[in-house]
Amino acid sequence: MFIAHLPAGYILTHCIARKNETIRSRVLAVGLIFSVLPDLDLLYFYLVDGRRTPHHDYWTHLPIFWLGVAALTAAALILAGKRHSMFLVWVALANVMMHLLLDSIAADIRWLHPLSGTRFNLVEVPARFEPWYLNFILHWTFAAEIAICAAALWVWRMQRRRNRDRRVEGNAAEGTERIHA
Ligand SMILES: [Zn+2]
Repeated sequence: MFIAHLPAGYILTHCIARKNETIRSRVLAVGLIFSVLPDLDLLYFYLVDGRRTPHHDYWTHLPIFWLGVAALTAAALILAGKRHSMFLVWVALANVMMHLLLDSIAADIRWLHPLSGTRFNLVEVPARFEPWYLNFILHWTFAAEIAICAAALWVWRMQRRRNRDRRVEGNAAEGTERIHA
């Protein structure tokens, strides 16, 4: 997946945080960061590994790694008496898992590692064009990416409108209070 991780993360986190306005921005920040975090391994892939290993083979693209990180973080929060922050761990984990799920459409993810080395992917993208990324951009799965981006834009616009309406209502209520004061 090329361009839809961040928009997909926005949609998912928006749905999670919609009903909790007080922590919405914090939840959104965590969700957006973790929706793309596994792909930070691209830095290692290009700068250190010299593109020798497919970056989906790194531990940053293993579900078991992130489950372990989430479990350790949750345990640390409980021990530190900060259970109220656990929600952010779930938000982060949900976004990472969605990243791996979306990667699983056209790239192979080892969902059962270390129990099994089986790689799971929905479709195989044939290598027909040069440079390599054209194979993905010209594949039908890229239409799904564009659809996710369009959906995220729609959700963002709806949220912006909701915020504006809320501000107008707030200003109107304030004005009425002043008149009656
Ligand atoms: Zn990825």
